[in-house]
Amino acid sequence: MKAGVVRAGIVVTGTEVITGRIADANGPWVSERLAELGVEVAHIIVVADRPDDLEHALDFLAAEGMDLIVTSGGLGPTADDLTGEIVARFAGRPLELDAEMEAKIAAILRRFASTRGIKFDEAAVMEANRKQAMVPAGAEALDPVGTAPGLVVPAGERVVVVLPGPPRELQPMWPVALATDAVRAVLARATPLHGLTMRMFGVPESEIAKSLREIEAQDGVDVDAVEITTCLRRGEIEIDVRWREETEATALAVRDGLVRRHPGETFSLDGETIDEQVAKLLRGHRLGLAESCSAGLLAARITDVPGASDYFAGSAVTYSYEAKEELLGVPKALLEEKGAVSPEVAAAMAQGALERFGADVAVAITGIAGPGGGTAEKPVGYVCFDARLADGTGIAVDRVIPGDRTDIRERSALVAMHLLRRLLGGEVSDSRP
Ligand code: ATP
Ligand code: MG
Repeated sequence: MKAGVVRAGIVVTGTEVITGRIADANGPWVSERLAELGVEVAHIIVVADRPDDLEHALDFLAAEGMDLIVTSGGLGPTADDLTGEIVARFAGRPLELDAEMEAKIAAILRRFASTRGIKFDEAAVMEANRKQAMVPAGAEALDPVGTAPGLVVPAGERVVVVLPGPPRELQPMWPVALATDAVRAVLARATPLHGLTMRMFGVPESEIAKSLREIEAQDGVDVDAVEITTCLRRGEIEIDVRWREETEATALAVRDGLVRRHPGETFSLDGETIDEQVAKLLRGHRLGLAESCSAGLLAARITDVPGASDYFAGSAVTYSYEAKEELLGVPKALLEEKGAVSPEVAAAMAQGALERFGADVAVAITGIAGPGGGTAEKPVGYVCFDARLADGTGIAVDRVIPGDRTDIRERSALVAMHLLRRLLGGEVSDSRP
């Protein structure tokens, strides 16, 4: 084991996850929590509800030298819920009935039945749930959040944390697992990892790679000494920099080198999202929207933030000429002369939104989402934006957004968010002490 490096593997069980019927919420969540604690997550393995597959996953992670293994799912009372049994065998610890846990589960089930008016056949239910009260010898059982207890099972040099599948049960049980002696002993060996998340808009991912090479070559920064993850996420670039104490200066040099090379595109140095920034900037304002191709997606983003009613008046979804005329007062002649997708119509829509909503900030979006409707002059993806204040200041842009219909519609809402930020004088967020 590398000094200070604790490595972990996660095994997510569930045929419903393997088949893609539900998306895995547990692997990424646990991974993120472990990373915050300075643990290096090496593998997330998804296995179907088949005992052999789970067993092989555990064997693999043991062979790879993981210090910590976390499993999710398969703790229920039914026949396909086998995780406890498999982990017990993996750890070489026989299962023993935990009478106290059995009584706890019975009490939970009795309460569950009585609040729903279900007749409770004590003997039958107890029989089915006895399995959930079986604990590997020397392991620690974690109180159920639903009906399934979790387990912390020492297995030779490593520790296995066994958690239930439903995220609303797994997540509250996590801190309880962390507080056990066995898990604390493993985590104590990890040196803390620090991190920062930067966000940029309007730079291709390849530019970031180029900048990182320059930071190495021109600024003489040992970029490889810190962990840098760049990803394109919802149309923005997210750059995650992680470091351990001794390489803090390197991490900050990377950050500063990136900001110097992309000053106009960097909008967040502390992970704050565009939605959070726009929400803050809109306080004290009244926002009205006029949406054509995005058809409410911008309104949905604005109202995703709690408290939006303080500043959001409404959005007019105006798809047809008639709707643009009647709801926003866009002149028919202008629509006919310039076309619905034009900077002039975007401007008239924004002006209409200011007036009709009695707003002091407005944004209009009108574009061609495709796949049909494009022309040589106005291709699919051509979108016009107009963001303006009641005092007459404004920003108008038009651009061709790449991608399919969904990409174009979603990106339109994103571009509008960034226009709002610019219009309202947003600064780069940096809340570090
Ligand atoms: P239960 O007592 O509810 O059966 P369990 O520990 O046996 O708990 P599973 O049977 O594996 O858990 O999963 C129960 C349900 O929890 C799944 O049908 C699914 O809705 C949800 N779930 C399980 N695993 C995941 C996951 N990785 N991501 C998101 N949801 C999950
Ligand atoms: Mg189950």
